[in-house]
Amino acid sequence: MLCYGKKLIAHGLVSGSGGNISHRLDNPNKMLITPSGMAYDKLQREDLVVMDIQTGEIESGHRKPSIERGLHRAIYQARQDVQAVVHTHSKHATAVAATRKNIPAMLDNMVAYFGGSVHTAPHAPIGSLSLADNAVKALAHRPVALLANHGAVAVGKDLAQAFLMAELLEECAQIYLLSFLAGGPISLTDAEVEEEIKWLQGKYGQP
Ligand SMILES: [Zn+2]
Repeated sequence: MLCYGKKLIAHGLVSGSGGNISHRLDNPNKMLITPSGMAYDKLQREDLVVMDIQTGEIESGHRKPSIERGLHRAIYQARQDVQAVVHTHSKHATAVAATRKNIPAMLDNMVAYFGGSVHTAPHAPIGSLSLADNAVKALAHRPVALLANHGAVAVGKDLAQAFLMAELLEECAQIYLLSFLAGGPISLTDAEVEEEIKWLQGKYGQP
């Protein structure tokens, strides 16, 4: 967890204490989350906070947990398949989030990685219940979503996968923005996305 915090900075996905990460513990009703407003390169094990996902009670840790703890809790409550959540303010993803637009399914890799387009959750104040609800709806069954006028969220079966999804989303957002220099993206049709999902089943990655 501390290592992924440092990687967030090193890979340019956040600056200073921006963004936050968490993972579900062996007890699936508990999560370990980064503290509020502390620089990732200074974080120690004892700065991390264990919270009950259902009640929001702090189980251990002497720091105040991330302001976006409600976002993390809501995602774990809605998605039993999710074991880790990475919330970033990476530049290109946040640039698209600032437009309040979705990223259309414009790349074959978006189908392979995300299952198609990336949705942007409607705007809500930082740390609010509405932000958490909107993010859960925008994620639906996908691994990534944008948060309007704010940033991005990525989830996975572990921190490595959630982090990778955050990086792939950033790359995809950069390509989306660059595509406008060449006349704007041409999206795959719904039929093409469905066909590709079927085609990729069992063919991509290692058995
Ligand atoms: Zn944020």
